[in-house]
Order: sequence, then C-alpha cells, then structure tokens
Amino acid sequence: MIDDIFCKIIKGELKAEAVYKDAEFWVIKDINPQAPVHLLIIPVKHFESIHEVTDKDASLLGRGLMVADKVAHDLDLGDKGYRLIINEGEDGGKLVPHFHIHLLGGKKLGPKIVK
Ligand SMILES: [Zn+2]
Repeated sequence: MIDDIFCKIIKGELKAEAVYKDAEFWVIKDINPQAPVHLLIIPVKHFESIHEVTDKDASLLGRGLMVADKVAHDLDLGDKGYRLIINEGEDGGKLVPHFHIHLLGGKKLGPKIVK
C-alpha cells in the first residue's frame, strides 16, 4: 500500500479534484479511472478498514452509501445505474490505507469487477 494520501488531501497537503464535500465526506475523482466516471467517496474521519468500525461509527458507513447515491444522481447516473466497490486489505486490492468507496459508472459495466 502507498501513503495515506486521503488524509493529506483532506488536510490540504495534496490537491485533488473534489466533486462533493460535506463535514463527513469528500468525493474526489480517481486519478486512474477505470470507467468514464470513477469517483472515491472518502470519510473525513480516518479509519483504515471496515474491521475498525465500532457501533458508534456504523452509521457513517451507511451515510457513505447515501453520499455515493446523491453524487451519482447529481451526475445523472441515477437512472442508468452505477457500481460501488470497497476494496479491503491486500487481497482485496486496497491501495490507500484510508477507507473509501469506489463509484463507477457512465457506461454499461460488465459482470467483471470494473471492465
Ligand atoms: Zn487517513
């Protein structure tokens, strides 16, 4: 895995193109898009994996799905659909050690993960 670039982006130490921000979530464009629309839904609060989430923060995960759906509709993906992916750990393909949700869309995605 690489550095936690998401905390650096949220702290303003690195630049990223944010398409949505609120007190709990930022949504930025993936720098290596795998579909015409490829966004990352990132909680402002740092946690690395779902395994670290406690009951206190469980609602934050649910809110992340709501933010993803809001942004998808804002980008007119709502009617045609989109895909959400969470990569966990090394075998899951997680690259940045800060929980995030991938949102992919803008074309008909096949049965494979992203292609
Ligand atoms: Zn972080």
